[in-house]
Amino acid sequence: MAQLTDDCFAFGGTLMGVDEAEALLTTRIPPLPGEEQLPLGTTLGRILARDLIAPMPLPPFHNSAVDGYAFRHADLKAKLATSLVLAGRIAAGDKAAALAPGSAARIFTGAPMPANADTVVMQEDAEASVTSVLVPTGLKPGANARPAGEDVAQGSIALRAGRRLDAPAMGLAAALGCTHLGVKPRPRIGVFSTGDELAQPGMPLGAAQTYDSNRFTLLALLAALPVEATDLGILPDDAATTASALRSAASKHDLLLTTGGVSTGEEDHVRAAIEAAGALVFWRLAIKPGRPAAMGVIAGTPVIGLPGNPVAAVITFLHLARPLILRLAGAAPRPLPRFAARGDFAYRKKAGRREYVRVTLAEGADGLPVATKFPREGAGLLSSLTRSDAFAELPEAVTEVAPGDLLRVLPFAALFGT
Ligand code: AMP
Ligand code: MG
Repeated sequence: MAQLTDDCFAFGGTLMGVDEAEALLTTRIPPLPGEEQLPLGTTLGRILARDLIAPMPLPPFHNSAVDGYAFRHADLKAKLATSLVLAGRIAAGDKAAALAPGSAARIFTGAPMPANADTVVMQEDAEASVTSVLVPTGLKPGANARPAGEDVAQGSIALRAGRRLDAPAMGLAAALGCTHLGVKPRPRIGVFSTGDELAQPGMPLGAAQTYDSNRFTLLALLAALPVEATDLGILPDDAATTASALRSAASKHDLLLTTGGVSTGEEDHVRAAIEAAGALVFWRLAIKPGRPAAMGVIAGTPVIGLPGNPVAAVITFLHLARPLILRLAGAAPRPLPRFAARGDFAYRKKAGRREYVRVTLAEGADGLPVATKFPREGAGLLSSLTRSDAFAELPEAVTEVAPGDLLRVLPFAALFGT
């Protein structure tokens, strides 16, 4: 990967805005170079490396959009229903013969239009006998027919470079006959937890220990992104051990993520370790939960030290790690999914920082979901995430929320890919 300079995250202020942090991360680090050609069926979730130029039109040929009768609009009478001679039957996959003047052909959805026909009447709107069909007035030329290329014109950009290959993109690439696509390489991401109090699920839990959850949360968040994630286990609260683990992981990964150990206490060894192994920039983000975060570069590889509290780790992952990962992956920037909801609670906050309040969502009378605040606020409350449905995002300038206020919410269903 491209070697980063040690000061690429440098920032002069004290409290950094969330948007500013995201902009810094996504502009100072280049996407990973390269491209892989993969069979279409294996590209789901990957990032398209270059624009896909349509090699053919879609639909490939002029065809009927309905089951009905195809004819030439010029054969219709101006203000009266027109009886046309019924001649021919064209099913999907058939070849179509040209129509004789004053005639119509029985046609089915997806079947090719006769070369000289332009319009189709739906079978429900026509009166047909064995030999003729009565076409009502009011049909516009071209009605119920799909010209070649009306969906995608040959030579146009069907999918843009940087686009994630999701279900609709997979379908479109297949419709254009692609067997292989050029995709961007997946960033290799190493994930560490840190803390002497952490135990691996399955191991006995000591008196003052808690099971490590952040690694599982982060690996699950990474599973929805185009990355190759590696579980690198738990590091002890020891700067030297952490520094050497980070140094050796840096050479094998494009990004390292840690959680814990980045506050300002004496027991926060990740900051010291990043400093020892490479270069450190400490950010106090204007965000709650999630204020402290450490950025670093070790042997040219970026490191993000996320806070240890589980909810803070998720919020900072979404605002720091996710945009940087999308950038490394060559993906077009993808804002977090935000929707409108109506709050039913009162809340006060400090100006100048962005706050995320956990809320449950219910159907509202005016069509907007109603957001109800989760009753507790701790950044360590893991169950607050399983028992609520969304984060309500309270912007920097807001100091007060009143019942009935319009809020922006980030639904977990979209954030967590369920
Ligand atoms: P720290 O930032 O290391 O001071 O950790 C803040 C809080 O988050 C402490 O209560 C830690 O025990 C907890 N914590 C840190 N890392 C994890 C983790 N991987 N899983 C669960 N809790 C954690
Ligand atoms: Mg810790």
